[in-house]
Amino acid sequence: MPSKAPGLDTEVTRLSGVGARTALLLEKLGIYTVQDLLFHLPIRYQDRTRITPIGATLPGQECLVQGEIELTQVKFGRRRSLLCRISDGSGALTLRFFYFNKAQQNSLQRGRAIRCYGRISSGGAHEMIHPEYRLLVNPADEEVDDTLVPVYPATEGLHQNRLRKLTDTALRLISKQPSRLLELIPAPVREQYDLPDLCDALHYTHRPPPDADTALLLAGKHPAQQRLAFEELLSMFLGLRRIRERVRKHSARPLGNGQALQRRFIDALAFTLTGAQNRVLAEIEQDLARELPMMRLIQGDVGCGKTVVAALACLNAIASGFQVAVMAPTELLCDQHYRNFSHWFAPLGIDTVILSGKLRKAERQSALQALATDTPLIVVGTHALFQKEVSFAQLGLVIIDEQHRFGVHQRLTLLKKGARGDVYPHQLIMTATPIPRTLTMSAYADLDVSSIDELPPGRKPVNTVVISNQRREDIVERIREAVNDGRQIYWVCTLIEESEALQCQAATETHDYLVQALPGLHVGLIHGRMPDRDKESVMQAYKAGDIDLLVATTVIEVGVDVPNASLMIIENAERLGLAQLHQLRGRIGRGSSHSDCVLMYRPPLSELSRQRLETMRSTSDGFKIAEKDLQLRGPGELIGTRQAGLPQLHIADLVRDAHLLPEINRVADRVAEQFPEQSRQLIARWQQKKMGYGNV
Ligand code: ADP
Ligand code: MG
Repeated sequence: MPSKAPGLDTEVTRLSGVGARTALLLEKLGIYTVQDLLFHLPIRYQDRTRITPIGATLPGQECLVQGEIELTQVKFGRRRSLLCRISDGSGALTLRFFYFNKAQQNSLQRGRAIRCYGRISSGGAHEMIHPEYRLLVNPADEEVDDTLVPVYPATEGLHQNRLRKLTDTALRLISKQPSRLLELIPAPVREQYDLPDLCDALHYTHRPPPDADTALLLAGKHPAQQRLAFEELLSMFLGLRRIRERVRKHSARPLGNGQALQRRFIDALAFTLTGAQNRVLAEIEQDLARELPMMRLIQGDVGCGKTVVAALACLNAIASGFQVAVMAPTELLCDQHYRNFSHWFAPLGIDTVILSGKLRKAERQSALQALATDTPLIVVGTHALFQKEVSFAQLGLVIIDEQHRFGVHQRLTLLKKGARGDVYPHQLIMTATPIPRTLTMSAYADLDVSSIDELPPGRKPVNTVVISNQRREDIVERIREAVNDGRQIYWVCTLIEESEALQCQAATETHDYLVQALPGLHVGLIHGRMPDRDKESVMQAYKAGDIDLLVATTVIEVGVDVPNASLMIIENAERLGLAQLHQLRGRIGRGSSHSDCVLMYRPPLSELSRQRLETMRSTSDGFKIAEKDLQLRGPGELIGTRQAGLPQLHIADLVRDAHLLPEINRVADRVAEQFPEQSRQLIARWQQKKMGYGNV
């Protein structure tokens, strides 16, 4: 018997039935205490409260169906499977099992009534793969559930039933002693926004009662859920604020005096900087001159010229005797930056080294050695920069490109790596992720933001057309004409939600087809499965103009810069999201010549796809596209929040709850200032383990 009545801080290991093994699994989910269990909220619900007629089920839908078995057979194919066909008068459905035994096969007899819960495949066949099922004895007497079933974030070895039991225990505990559940949202805020009681909201969300408004709950819009979402978003803003404060508590070396180097650098450029580039550079330099670590984001649409600005910022660090780390999200981009930076900096007598995953041992050793000496230099790298063996002698500035591939956590890791005691490097982040303004502030609330809101002069907007793949041959003909006009072309093969292997296969096949269809042209191929060295040499050949037509997978999506490329064909464009289409299209329209983008689709086009393609056709403004994206996507579908570097949330949804963000951001200011203790505890409740604040 525990010495003290269990409360919120009680460790889960003290609950009955939680042994060391379970405790470890819970830890993986960030659950250590009873409070953590209470705030481990359902990510969604299963609706087993009604039976859906088979004829009314939709691809991708999770539902409960009931019918009579018509036929059960084993099918031998590439993969042996047990198929069981059922029907309910409104339609028929196939249940498919890859894992099965003889007894199971025998039990699924023709004529028996069966009830199944599962997801209708989104691919062509009308089937459920491995549904949960139960054979019924008296189908007429079988009841359905009267409440929604919560589905929790789980982990291998710790499944839904177990999590439901554990949350039951936690809920019972607070039912007995509701006063133990700390209300952390200050009373004036609760009153102003008419927020329901925390205890009620938790009960309702974990165990919706039978009379609950199912549609509202499934949509995540029930006041109980919204109340918890409010609290979580509040804690998110408080957390980001705290990161900022913590980093700002450290000091940094002021960096400056880059003017002489910058003048030589600018003189050697083939163009002059835009007003926006100059303005943003000035903003950066003001930060660099201070004894506080800069935390600045450069935002700017694809092609606005962020790299040059970053390079100019580097010169201040170099002139002050410091090293700079430039981090890129992919090997391709890393190579490109390495080439650009060494090309720009070698004439100035500045060393650029590369540190990526593909280096040979000796190359790697010499790069590591260079970093460990006091020489001011630029190191361009991928994730490899995080590795343990990497240590910097004098890191003054960290530049992270295309931030949407990295999260808050990784950003902080690199900062800490470069820290010397209390002295932190300055940090500059570049992003072209067109996310709507409302979301920018949640992703980057810890950063100051500069915008390059002007494209270099002479850029002509890309002319975009939407064409059915039935006109593929016309398009191929157009390629020939374009090459005759001296243009270079990308042909992008996309397959969303399918394996990378399939993508590469599609690209390889398209490549072979185009080689045949376009004799005399130099057709290249690049995809993710090629060795990095091959990718690099293909990109080099393309950049040098030795390849006319480059068939590519979406590996070229981010950052690739070949200004002479002025025609892009995107196959299956209807399958891509707007953000990705915009990134891809941003690979052309970078030079001064006129560019065209062909969005090729496979008919018939769904209404949603039609609207997406129309958006691409009618605008090239990244922010307009992002806003449209937000409108067109349903909640939870946002850009892949992980990819966008946006925080991972338990119950809030940045799209569904976007309208709350500006308001809650303001509330966070007030809470941080007037209620520091609640603020601290809110962060602890929702964010602590996730972001590892303790370590900043
Ligand atoms: P992004 O902001 O998408 O990273 P880049 O830095 O790759 O863009 O720049 C896109 C292209 O525009 C590059 O080829 C770059 O050399 C060129 N560029 C950058 N600034 C200017 C400018 N002020 N005038 C003309 N071209 C520029
Ligand atoms: Mg870039």
